[in-house]
Amino acid sequence: IGNIRVCCRIRPFLPGQKRKHSIFEYIGDNGDLIVSDPFKRGKEGFRSFKFDKVYSPEATQAEVFSDTQPLVQSVLDGYNVCIFAYGQTGSGKTYTMVSGPDGATEEEWGVNFRALNNFFRISQSRESNFTYEISVQIVEIYNEQIGYYIHVASKILVIPDLHTLGILSTSQPNGLAVPDASIHVVKSTSAVLELMDIGLNNRAKSSTAMNERSSRSHSIVSIHARGLDLKSGSSLRGSLHLVDLAGSERIDRSEVTGDRLKEAQHINKSLSALGDVIFALAQKNSHVPYRNSKLTQVLQSSLDGQAKIVMFVQLNPDASSYNETLHTLKFAERVSSTVELAKMFVS
Ligand code: ADP
Ligand code: MG
Repeated sequence: IGNIRVCCRIRPFLPGQKRKHSIFEYIGDNGDLIVSDPFKRGKEGFRSFKFDKVYSPEATQAEVFSDTQPLVQSVLDGYNVCIFAYGQTGSGKTYTMVSGPDGATEEEWGVNFRALNNFFRISQSRESNFTYEISVQIVEIYNEQIGYYIHVASKILVIPDLHTLGILSTSQPNGLAVPDASIHVVKSTSAVLELMDIGLNNRAKSSTAMNERSSRSHSIVSIHARGLDLKSGSSLRGSLHLVDLAGSERIDRSEVTGDRLKEAQHINKSLSALGDVIFALAQKNSHVPYRNSKLTQVLQSSLDGQAKIVMFVQLNPDASSYNETLHTLKFAERVSSTVELAKMFVS
C-alpha cells in the first residue's frame, strides 16, 4: 500500500480577478493546509487539513511534474499508473493535466506532454536493451456514455454523438475496457501533439454546447507502453491514464431542471463512485465497487492490483469559491485519511 498520493494544487488569481485575498491561511511544505472561512472572524473559521503535498499558487508545471515523474517512469517497468485531476470548473484541472493556455510554451506544458517526453527520452536511453512501443488512446465519458476518437484515413475524428458502447467484462491487460476506441502508435511527442491538436481543435470548433460539455465530461488520455527485453526476449506492458474529471461543483437542485440536472446527477454519481473505489482500494477491501459508474468500470483493470494512483486536488483561492473549495477538500480528506488509516494497519 502507499500507492495512493493525494496532492492539492492551489491556482493563482487570474489577471482579471479584482479581489485577491486568498482563503488559504497557511500552506506547509509537508502537506499541511489551513483554510479560513471568509464569513467568520479570526481563528474560529480556521480548518486544517493534511495531504501528501500541497502546491502553492507559485508552483510551476515543472515542479508539479517532477514529483510524479518517478511514478510516470515506472510505467516503462510495467506498472499501471492513474493520475486524476479533481476540482470545480475553473480550478486548473486541464491546466495541470493537459497544458497551459492556448499556444502554451513548453514551460507551461502539463503532465501529459511532459510524461510523453519522458517516455520517449527514456526509451531512447534504453535502446540497446529494450524496444518500446508507445500508443495513445483518448476516451470521453459524458452522462454515463462513452465517446471515443477513431482513426479514419489518417485523420482523427471525434465522435460527437456519443454511443453507448459495451464495456468488455474481461479487458485487455492494462488496457481500457473500451473495445471500439482506437489506439494509435506514436513515435514522438510531436506526433502526439498533432494527434491531440486535431482532437482538441475538433472539440473547440464544434458548437458552444460542445465546449460547455467539456467541463461536464470526464476525459481520459491513456498512454500504453509495451516493452521487449532484447536479451531475455520477455515483454512487459504498462499504462498511464490521465484523467481530467468533470467539474465537481454542486448544482442547486432547485435551480436546474432537465438536461443540466441529469448531467449534474451523472457527475455526482460517478465522482462519488470514484471516491468509493479509492476508499476500498486503500483499505484493501475484498470488494471494490467498480460497477457503480462507467468511469470506474472503464478504469477497473488499471486501478486494481499494483496500480499507483495520484489525485491532484485543484483549489480556487477566492472567497466566493469557499463553499466549493471546502467540499473539494472534504472529498480529498476522505480519500487521503483512509490512506493514512491503511498505512497504520500495515505497520
Ligand atoms: P478546469 O479545467 O478545472 O476547468 P482550467 O485548467 O481551464 O480549469 O483553468 C482555468 C483558468 O485558470 C485557465 O485560464 C487556466 O489557464 C488558468 N490556470 C489554472 N491553473 C493555473 C496555474 N497554475 N497558473 C496559471 N494559470 C492557471
Ligand atoms: Mg477543464
